[in-house]
Amino acid sequence: MNEVQLEVAKAYPNDSGRGIARLDPDTLLHLKLSPGDIIEIEGAETTAAKVWRADRQDWNTDTVRVDGFTRQNADVGIGERVTIRKAEAEKADKLVLAPPEEASVQFGSDAAGMVKRQILKRPVVERDIVPVMSSTNHPFMRSPGQAIPLIAVETEPDGVCLITEDTEVELREEPISGFEKTGGGITYEDIGGLQSEIQRVREMVELPMKHPQIFSKLGIEPPQGVLLHGPPGTGKTLLAKAVANETSASFFSIAGPEIISKYYGESEQQLREIFEDAKEESPSIIFIDELDSIAPKREDVTGEVERRVVAQLLTMMDGLETRGQVVVIGATNRVDSVDPALRRPGRFDREIEIGVPDEVGRKEILQIHTRGMPLSDDVSLDHLADETHGFVGADIESLTKEAAMKALRRYLPEIDLDDEEVPPSLIDRMIVKRDDFSGALTE
Ligand code: ADP
Repeated sequence: MNEVQLEVAKAYPNDSGRGIARLDPDTLLHLKLSPGDIIEIEGAETTAAKVWRADRQDWNTDTVRVDGFTRQNADVGIGERVTIRKAEAEKADKLVLAPPEEASVQFGSDAAGMVKRQILKRPVVERDIVPVMSSTNHPFMRSPGQAIPLIAVETEPDGVCLITEDTEVELREEPISGFEKTGGGITYEDIGGLQSEIQRVREMVELPMKHPQIFSKLGIEPPQGVLLHGPPGTGKTLLAKAVANETSASFFSIAGPEIISKYYGESEQQLREIFEDAKEESPSIIFIDELDSIAPKREDVTGEVERRVVAQLLTMMDGLETRGQVVVIGATNRVDSVDPALRRPGRFDREIEIGVPDEVGRKEILQIHTRGMPLSDDVSLDHLADETHGFVGADIESLTKEAAMKALRRYLPEIDLDDEEVPPSLIDRMIVKRDDFSGALTE
């Protein structure tokens, strides 16, 4: 059969959640494919996607770009290889979707129709994660990680199915158990800019987690602690969550100031418990936000609690010995205030600076946060990227939300708050305009 092996790369920012695979013209030719055709992607599991043409910079790189959902569906990571072939897609008579374990969802009365419209002409394979936008949320308010991942628990027929107008889509509110995939969570597509930073974190954390034998063969210790430092709102938390999600590691989060404010003796106890749980459920990532507040330079330490918590943290990190299966990622805005004892070998001995995004990064962040937002043609993200010098990711996120709120206010007079549902025709008409962004910018 006609097939090729390609390396998996992350999706373009705008492609996430759309079930698209980007291939270069050579591959299209070789597999006799045209844009819009459906392909099978075989990793550890097999899924399907719709083909789009890759941008020129990706030509002849032997890669296929797919998003985090498709990667989970094929059970592959970035940099791993998959087999691609043309799919024999049949029209789906029926598709049953249900939320994954521990995620119950309430659907509105027209939810099935809205979901169908979102996934029309997309291929689905049984057991796939199908990301959909919440119908209870306002359609403008989608932001990364807020798409609801549903699981295709049943399709008729089996195999690769294409959703059409005639497909009967059924939604179940009852979560489905026994599916390993959890879907949700932050993926690398949700991070704008920071390309080389992501690459470094992957080498430090993902590589030893996935392939510990490489490190033992070379006789080196994988890093136990990584320190991310840079201004607030630049994506440090986002990055830690993405790494955990992409490696399927358990994620434990500790807020520095919170743990310090615990009652006498409780902080150390809590720290100990988190480290123990993390070991038990490894591979794990323990994320400590505002590390400088737990572990300020000793000369700054005034409180007894801080001193004890630092000592406890040092003990826990020195006792980890999990060969990269438990990694502690610390974040701080003030790297110079972190206790030097914590930055010694075997502790937080790797550092990555997460800086303020440049124009290219800002454009990517804008693309991410306007994904799924109906933008009017007069909105230029290039222009906005140019105008937002000095904005960090969190600022850009608020800007896009504020613009959407401004748009919403324009439609409010047409919405009858006593009616249970907003007419679908109005929802279809809503768009966010350039003026909404200009208005949001001047506030
Ligand atoms: P930090 O941990 O550096 O203070 P966060 O990761 O908590 O910042 O960022 C806060 C929010 O801002 C994120 O949830 C995200 O929505 C947005 N954000 C920040 N940086 C980025 C980025 N590089 N790309 C996309 N969104 C970002």
